[in-house]
Amino acid sequence: MQEATVDQRQAKTATGAYDPKSMKAEEFIHHGEILETLAWAEKNRDNADEIERVIEKAKQKKGLSHREAVLLLDCAIPEKNEEIFRLAEQLKKDFYGNRIVLFAPLYLSNYCINSCTYCPYHKQNKSIPRKKLTQDEIRREVIALQDMGHKRLALEAGEDPVNNPLEYILESIKTIYSIKHKNGAIRRVNVNIAATTVEDYRKLKEAEIGTYILFQETYHKESYGKLHPSGPKHDYAWHTEAHDRAMQAGIDDVGLGVLFGLEGYRYELAGLIMHAEHLEAAFGVGPHTISVPRICPADDIDPDTFDNGISDDMFAKIVAVIRLAVPYTGMIISTRESQASRERALHLGISQISGGSRTSVGGYADVKPENDKSAQFDISDDRSLDEVIRWLIDMDHIPSFCTACYREGRTGDRFMSLCKSGQILNCCHPNALITLQEYLEDYASPETKERGEAMIQREVERVPHEKVRERAKKFLGEIHNGARDFRF
Ligand code: SF4
Ligand code: SF4
Repeated sequence: MQEATVDQRQAKTATGAYDPKSMKAEEFIHHGEILETLAWAEKNRDNADEIERVIEKAKQKKGLSHREAVLLLDCAIPEKNEEIFRLAEQLKKDFYGNRIVLFAPLYLSNYCINSCTYCPYHKQNKSIPRKKLTQDEIRREVIALQDMGHKRLALEAGEDPVNNPLEYILESIKTIYSIKHKNGAIRRVNVNIAATTVEDYRKLKEAEIGTYILFQETYHKESYGKLHPSGPKHDYAWHTEAHDRAMQAGIDDVGLGVLFGLEGYRYELAGLIMHAEHLEAAFGVGPHTISVPRICPADDIDPDTFDNGISDDMFAKIVAVIRLAVPYTGMIISTRESQASRERALHLGISQISGGSRTSVGGYADVKPENDKSAQFDISDDRSLDEVIRWLIDMDHIPSFCTACYREGRTGDRFMSLCKSGQILNCCHPNALITLQEYLEDYASPETKERGEAMIQREVERVPHEKVRERAKKFLGEIHNGARDFRF
């Protein structure tokens, strides 16, 4: 039944033209247009005039088209590549300043009926222990996360209507928001669950989620079919159109992502930027975030069996080009990446990172090696959150636990207009300082506290508006005296 629907849809769109406004996956992620884009960029990779034109356009901070983005990715002129990296760094500073927002993933369940060949949770994997957290176990996980200092979570769960129905996810979100342990609180829950219906997205919206995140994995439809041989995720259009349904349900912050390594990175970048263009064309709001995971080892998964791995240099270039193409979109990097790779990417455009992460079900409260067997992937950066905070401070990035926008109603187009005009920085910077102060008071090691306090003293004087600066100082003093949860 489901297969017939897919076939009919393919038949209808096989000759459909590229149309960013279309609500059909195969028309807004148009295979023919991507192939033409790749050929055009390949032909122009030494064309200094054309590359210069695109760099000049990027300097206007209004973004680039998918064609222009792939051209910069392909650029074979060393001086121009240096300029691309420099500009990415500049745009990062202009839009986000030097704050980096922190979050942690929380794995609720690894039961899954899909068969993604790159993920150890695929249903054929009999060696991985299957686990689903009870509400009591979620409480323990959240307390452990609050005791680390986290305020923002990304919920993760496999797709399984019997073991992890939407009601379970909704109940879990309620549990998470309800826990107030010492001075801790989870103030924003982002959700990364399988594509679902408009009605279900409406329920997630009512449960007050932050961003709905869904990775495309690969935009290449034929490869997508092979990488997802069975299960609901097999349906390319259902998956690719999921963000549209979320938007229709009123969730106006959605996150995109590609799993780099599955298909050719040039194809994926073109698809990713086309997807951003589609959201902008169809809803007037681009993606809230873009994640850039790379495939990595896990139980039953050997990344070497995938032919499209990318080097660290190319990974850095992809991050830089995305920064130029969608300057207003947050970019996320996880602990899949090593400390060195994260360090480089931070300068080029990353605005959010995870820290102190566990990628197993129940891994925060119960740190045991046997729990790691249920992990979705091996972590490269396994430092504690406190070490990550200190590392950020030492590199002059302000660690931020800010969750203000969503709670102030700054979402969707309201958020985007503030971001595009560069005004959001007036909120991000002081919010980073006051949430860092909370962290230092409640959770930091003495060494981190000392360096963090020195940073806050320095940075608060850099708040440009006098009134905001004075308010920020007042909040910092009140936090020191025990008050919590201020925001701009
Ligand atoms: Fe399931 Fe997601 Fe893993 Fe696929 S990637 S097997 S849908 S948990
Ligand atoms: Fe993010 Fe808004 Fe806070 Fe800035 S002010 S860090 S955009 S939540």
